[in-house]
Amino acid sequence: MKLKYIFGPVISRRLGRSLGIDLIPFKTCSLDCIYCECGRTNSLTRERKEYVPTDEVINELNNYLSTSPELDYLTFSGSGEPTLHSDIGKIINFLKDNYPQYKVALLTNGTLFTDKNVIAEVKRADLIVPSLDGVSEEVFSKINRPVNNITSQEIISGLENLRKEYPGEIWLEIFIVPGINDKEKELRLFKETIARIRPDKVQLNTLDRPGTETWVRPVPEEKLRSVTGFLGDKVEIVT
Ligand code: SF4
Repeated sequence: MKLKYIFGPVISRRLGRSLGIDLIPFKTCSLDCIYCECGRTNSLTRERKEYVPTDEVINELNNYLSTSPELDYLTFSGSGEPTLHSDIGKIINFLKDNYPQYKVALLTNGTLFTDKNVIAEVKRADLIVPSLDGVSEEVFSKINRPVNNITSQEIISGLENLRKEYPGEIWLEIFIVPGINDKEKELRLFKETIARIRPDKVQLNTLDRPGTETWVRPVPEEKLRSVTGFLGDKVEIVT
């Protein structure tokens, strides 16, 4: 059977054997990150809707999971922002009600946690990995090029609310872009912000495959290690 909404399993650096679930058309996202491996965002939006039919996604997951595959995580990810799908909560609930033996992870850009309803919808996930690449508005807009009206301060407040409301693990991911968000001033802001969000872990990432903008370069390993040391105990490198 041809699979439309699930992919893999892939062996992930962080999540082990992970089955991907993609609910969003290619490059439909609330951000247009300079490092995105999928190219430019062609539909820059924060509109939530049923981008792909929920019943079809659930049927495909049910058919696949009923064969009891060996997996560490079922992971909402792909080439767009998963929380833009208005039924992500319904799909997570289906998985937790019917396949509780599998852990559910959500990889997200975190922009929609400004809406408390979105936080309520994803509460049953076991792990949420939100990204945050800039604390100052200047750095945030340079790296993430958001849809109109999203600010880094709004996103940070949303992540603080997520921490208050959500009982599972939060691993905050920071993508380091040399020359933009690795300067001392911004790193100090990150340190304060991490203390506010209180994630279980902070994971530093850098360019692995070519990004949207060809001038984006990976951070030298030594620099990444010094940023890790500066930001504190819970921080690790994931590349
Ligand atoms: S949030 Fe993710 S999918 Fe969207 S542009 Fe950034 S890296 Fe690409």
